[in-house]
Amino acid sequence: MLVQRFFLPAAAGLLLAACQPAEPPALEEQETPEVSAAAALPAVPAGGIDADRYAEHLQVLASDEFEGRAPGTRGERLTLNYLVREFAALGLGAGYGDSYLQPVPMAEMVAEERSSLRLTAGEESFELTYPEQMIIGTRRPGSDFHGVEDSELVFVGYGIVAPEYGWDDYAGLDVAGKTVVMLVNDPGFATADPDLFNGRAMTYYGRWTYKYEEAARQGAAAALIVHDTEPASYGWDVVINSWSGAQFELGGDSPESLLALEGWITLEATQSLFERAGLDFDAEQARAARPGFSYVSLGADVSAEVRNRVREGVSYNVLAMIPGSERPDEVVVYLAHWDHLGRNMALPGSAGIYNGAIDNASGTAALLEIARLYQQAGQPRRSVLFLAVTLEEYGLLGSRYYVNNPVFPHAQTVAAINMDAMTLIGPTDDVVVVGYGSSELEHILARAVEQQGRHVVPEPTPEAGFYYRSDHFNFARAGIPALYAKGGVEHREHGREYGMARAREYRDIQYHKPADVFDPDWDFRGVAEDLELLYVVGRELADGEAWPNWFDGNEFRAARDAQRP
Ligand SMILES: [Zn+2]
Repeated sequence: MLVQRFFLPAAAGLLLAACQPAEPPALEEQETPEVSAAAALPAVPAGGIDADRYAEHLQVLASDEFEGRAPGTRGERLTLNYLVREFAALGLGAGYGDSYLQPVPMAEMVAEERSSLRLTAGEESFELTYPEQMIIGTRRPGSDFHGVEDSELVFVGYGIVAPEYGWDDYAGLDVAGKTVVMLVNDPGFATADPDLFNGRAMTYYGRWTYKYEEAARQGAAAALIVHDTEPASYGWDVVINSWSGAQFELGGDSPESLLALEGWITLEATQSLFERAGLDFDAEQARAARPGFSYVSLGADVSAEVRNRVREGVSYNVLAMIPGSERPDEVVVYLAHWDHLGRNMALPGSAGIYNGAIDNASGTAALLEIARLYQQAGQPRRSVLFLAVTLEEYGLLGSRYYVNNPVFPHAQTVAAINMDAMTLIGPTDDVVVVGYGSSELEHILARAVEQQGRHVVPEPTPEAGFYYRSDHFNFARAGIPALYAKGGVEHREHGREYGMARAREYRDIQYHKPADVFDPDWDFRGVAEDLELLYVVGRELADGEAWPNWFDGNEFRAARDAQRP
């Protein structure tokens, strides 16, 4: 699971908060499945997931010898060798041409200049200072200066263009060369109106990454997001921490257009900007949350520039394939990120190793065990790709690279099933769907869950946007239905309080810390059930002909409908 921006132990408390669950939307409210209503689901092969084998894979990947599996290190080499050897031993073929390895160019960037951002309003000139009032950076490749000069500052509300809501914050605005100022999150969060951007639950449109992407698509020169603690769900210190130090990006030329400058400004600095322009910030903010908002100029021009120091390198995704017997050109993808945070050289020996046992040796080992079940059950009708991606912890980069450079076209990719930080607390009666209510994949999952005598629950904190913080998101963004589900907190024998306590323990003590180590006392019965579920969901698709889609109104549906008219 990715932190807000990249490796940032300080932000660990944000994640996987085991809070009270939101009111679960009733399943009946959703459309009926067109994916096989009554037919039996595929059986799990005899013996099912082998907990001992799974534990062994997990233990090796999370061992000190693997040094925390940081991209570009000896730990990466050992990890790649292990995965390739194990996939080959299971009889899976190479998934990237005649290789199991897809090279992923990466760039590490450190900003050199971002001391100030100068604003001019009429005769008056003033500065926003770093890091008290603003932070800016550039994701453009290379080490040239990037910036803006006398670029008009325009407030574009939430910076959203969402056809399914008839919403366009850029309507009527020629934004070329301008710098846009945008609010964080989305109008649904601001108004709690369930009919507007899924209410309090975060949509893709609420993510800061989306806002920069959209601004770049519209042709803006630069974009500043207004920080506000509640809708952002983290404080200004988190913005500063996560934007300071090294940032990671894919190397080489980006297929996506990128802004010259991206950044954040504080709420206080924004309020005074609006005041200077004779605008009431609170009124403008309220206006931005209602349909029919239109942009407003802030009567100031902005100048600033930054430059990165860049180091380039290569990491690798691992691709192993089972070709389909009847529809080999169609594929079901299982994915998990193999990378983690490496080691802290300042600490001696194993004390400084971020073993990443749960995050994400647990999901990587799962790829191997699920692949074994496929081999045991015999060749599926569609192809199945097992994809262990790199650079998740550094910005979901390996999965983004695969999606930008896929082996199968997006329109031929049936679904993506992600495994990240599996639940290792023992058997649970609940199965959590992160991004609950997104796609018809949930119908298949619900049937498989029911067969196990368990039940599906939505993630407890949809407003935190976890669905957008792991690798399946890159598939979703490309229109491919993507599922992220795992065991919950309702422990079958010890109850819910116990499960909640274990979830808190992970969040507070282990998550993104050297304490995330293999524990020989783990009870693997639960994760075995969870992986059998994911096997059944994928196998149902791999042996069938269905093309499950996003639910109506989902932000990714338009992309899928365009691919598969
Ligand atoms: Zn992580």
